[in-house]
Amino acid sequence: MTSPFIIPLFDILRFSFMKIEIPKLAPEGEQFTGAEPAALLQLDVPEQIRAEGPIQYDFFAQLLGHELVVRGSLSADLAVTCGRCAEMFSTNMAISDFLRTFDLSGGQEIVDLTDDIREEVLLHLPHYPVCKPDCQGLCPQCGCNLNQGACDCKAQAADLRWSGLDGLKLK
Ligand SMILES: [Zn+2]
Ligand SMILES: [Zn+2]
Repeated sequence: MTSPFIIPLFDILRFSFMKIEIPKLAPEGEQFTGAEPAALLQLDVPEQIRAEGPIQYDFFAQLLGHELVVRGSLSADLAVTCGRCAEMFSTNMAISDFLRTFDLSGGQEIVDLTDDIREEVLLHLPHYPVCKPDCQGLCPQCGCNLNQGACDCKAQAADLRWSGLDGLKLK
């Protein structure tokens, strides 16, 4: 099966990801704001979750002794499958507490944040997304989406219950 949302590997390799060049970093620290292509996440279940745009980042990077400290926020627009009704819906994922420290005592000149961004976003993906707080979900019997209207199952189940009572013999 081919999906229009799966980006071929050669496209992923063409992107240049978020890197900080230590010798160029301002001594008082520097703000890095931009976007990374969603392909970075390598989400491979597009029918359940996919990015609907790039991953936005807003970082402040500063050298403290032999450490590079990067803190800031990340956000991404996602399309995810509702855990109740199984419909896809759009949502925004925002991470405000991104924080990483890198030990530079080995003389490292470039810090690549790609894996850290990827890891952070994957960690924050919603585990049980719900399209709206009052999503009615699917009927457990016929599987119809109850947000689009009630099915007949409830009424039938109620009828069965009462007919069962009707058959009870009272001693
Ligand atoms: Zn739903
Ligand atoms: Zn039903």
